[in-house]
Amino acid sequence: MIAAILFDKDGTLYDFYHTWAGLTEQAALFVAGGDAERAKFLMENSGKDPATGKYGPSSPIAAGSNREIVEVWCGLIQRADVDDVYQHVSNMFLEHQTNGIEPVTNLDLFFGRLKARGLRLGVATMDSEKAARAAMRRANATHHLDFICGYDTGHGVKPLGGMVEAFARQVGVALPHLAVVGDSPHDMHMARAGKAGRAIGVLTGVSPKEALLEAGAHAVIDSIAEIESVL
Ligand SMILES: [Mg+2]
Repeated sequence: MIAAILFDKDGTLYDFYHTWAGLTEQAALFVAGGDAERAKFLMENSGKDPATGKYGPSSPIAAGSNREIVEVWCGLIQRADVDDVYQHVSNMFLEHQTNGIEPVTNLDLFFGRLKARGLRLGVATMDSEKAARAAMRRANATHHLDFICGYDTGHGVKPLGGMVEAFARQVGVALPHLAVVGDSPHDMHMARAGKAGRAIGVLTGVSPKEALLEAGAHAVIDSIAEIESVL
């Protein structure tokens, strides 16, 4: 019986492609000086599959920091003004994070539904705690959450189990009754490392089903909207 659920943020509560794909293309076009062919070259040499449009799960554009992405792009076309480019791209992402992102589903209603079943809820992200809190505030979801943790909260980082253990302590639920929901192998590894009862993968991120199962997922669902089917 699952009594508490710990959710990853990006790729799980927020659909990765809906949130970031358009913006990443715009950023590549900026770095390419407005040249569409060059932008395409940058995208395809930093992780975008030209046939499917999907990003390789561990490629720079899927898994790298903004700084790493900019460094790879500038290297590909020998641009030397990396710091200036980074500043501009970083502002583009920050502006989007503040004003442009929409969750997979209405999080206020979604978490409210789970709360009504008596479940305790948390968010664990490799983003900062501040960014996670801002996102949850914006989604009007904070009041449903018992726990919000980032890479900088002090419970360690993924794929280690510290965030899972801290959540279990916070809500007073034994680890076998806790589920972790995430879109990446790191989330599944974290669930296993923290000895959570269930590791549930979602397909709204950059990882295919096989990769999540291979990383230890007990179940994989299309999105969090289907969570009740695996509780
Ligand atoms: Mg994620």
